Amino acid sequence: MYTFSTISAYQQDLCNQVVTCEAMVRQYLQKIAATAGLNAFIELYEAEALARARALDAQAPGEPKKRLHGVIISIKDTICHKDHPVTCGSKILTGFTSLYNATAIQRLLDEDAIVIGRCNCDEFGMGSSTENSFYGPTRNAADTNRVPGGSSGGSAVSVQAGLCMAAIGGDTGGSIRQPADFCGVVGLKPSYGRVSRYGLIAYACSFEQIGVFTNTIPDAALLLEVMSGPDDYDSTALQETPPAFTGYATTTTKPYRFACFKDAIRNPALDPEIQQAILDTADRLRADGHVVEMIDFPLMAYIVPAYYVLITAEASSNLSRYDGVRFGYRTPAAVKDLTDFYKQTRSEGFSKEVQRRIMLGTFVLSAGYYEAYYARAQQVRRMLVDQVATVFGGFDAILMPVSPTTAFPLGEKTSDPIAMYLADIYTVFANLTGIPGIALPLFRHSNGMPFGLQLMTKAADELTLLRLGDLLMQQYRQ
Ligand code: GLN
Repeated sequence: MYTFSTISAYQQDLCNQVVTCEAMVRQYLQKIAATAGLNAFIELYEAEALARARALDAQAPGEPKKRLHGVIISIKDTICHKDHPVTCGSKILTGFTSLYNATAIQRLLDEDAIVIGRCNCDEFGMGSSTENSFYGPTRNAADTNRVPGGSSGGSAVSVQAGLCMAAIGGDTGGSIRQPADFCGVVGLKPSYGRVSRYGLIAYACSFEQIGVFTNTIPDAALLLEVMSGPDDYDSTALQETPPAFTGYATTTTKPYRFACFKDAIRNPALDPEIQQAILDTADRLRADGHVVEMIDFPLMAYIVPAYYVLITAEASSNLSRYDGVRFGYRTPAAVKDLTDFYKQTRSEGFSKEVQRRIMLGTFVLSAGYYEAYYARAQQVRRMLVDQVATVFGGFDAILMPVSPTTAFPLGEKTSDPIAMYLADIYTVFANLTGIPGIALPLFRHSNGMPFGLQLMTKAADELTLLRLGDLLMQQYRQ
């Protein structure tokens, strides 16, 4: 079996004819077939991936190669890929085919990436375990009785189990960083607006970002560099030209300043081993000349409630388009009238969790409750944005856990949605405030599962995020 350290090492091997794109695609297809029980993929594009690989292999040896020449990726089932089905893990999008490429996907394809398949996820990205998919749960490759996290669980497992080189996911409240943590891979959520959302099927528009799962920081930097930048199709995309993310490395050995929120570390729900690993890392950073300060951040308790009020409000509006009339699933039942048709279609097409969120979102937006819930949650969001800006006035990065626990057994939280929501405490913060976050796979728990820590930097500062991520991965990985 051919193995490689980074995408650029693989590309060097392609140049030196140590390996071919076609051999690589075949190797992955074999491994995917051998691990089909993980249920990481909803659909594979075998013939198309092989044809694309052969076309790339046929390029003349001296011909300049594109930046993602032969890079084999998977895509979460919420991102549009022209002429391929996309269903958001939901019955309601049965039979729907993407009419265009998401800007991020177009940019990856333009650089000669090869898409091997479409990955499983929680329905519409709603969940933290990938158990809430019409296609059944995905399993963690490190222990198949445990969840891979979610909602981009299939994407995380596709990298964890060595089924592709990198995966493209979406993160509305942690859906890249938390499954990356549960599976022991790198998961990067860029700043809000860094990557165009055009073609990412909307769940909560003001929160979500497309990001990546990779094995290494250089790979994450490369993919981010290709996908990011302004886009005429997304008015919320950052307008400035992004820096060259692959140039994140620096030779200066400047001491960095890290902030840790006391309430995040002292959270009684935090697994003691995870807590200890973060405290030990803080000590080691200090011993190496950096500054790590434990600071007060009094709004911690409001983070999860504000997130779930706002995202359900946005979801109730975004998901109103699935009515069974124009596309996707429609009820075969005999119906009385149009209202009955909508009710039947939506009751049959959406899972319980999606219905719960649509109803909750409709409630918090309704006359009489809007001020009490939606408007107040928006105020909390504003305060969080202001407070985090103050924090970054004195620090380069925030150091946090990714999740209070390691990957939990399948079925453990499915009957308790509140427990599932509360576990999002450390990840939703970055989405509420629009800052970038990265999950770094640094540790292993005594229960055998991987876990890591999360770094966040100020908005639009992915360069520092990658630089510090690289530092931790190189020097603090156990
Ligand atoms: N677990 C969170 C939720 O259910 C995050 C999901 C996501 O980022 N798509 O909303």
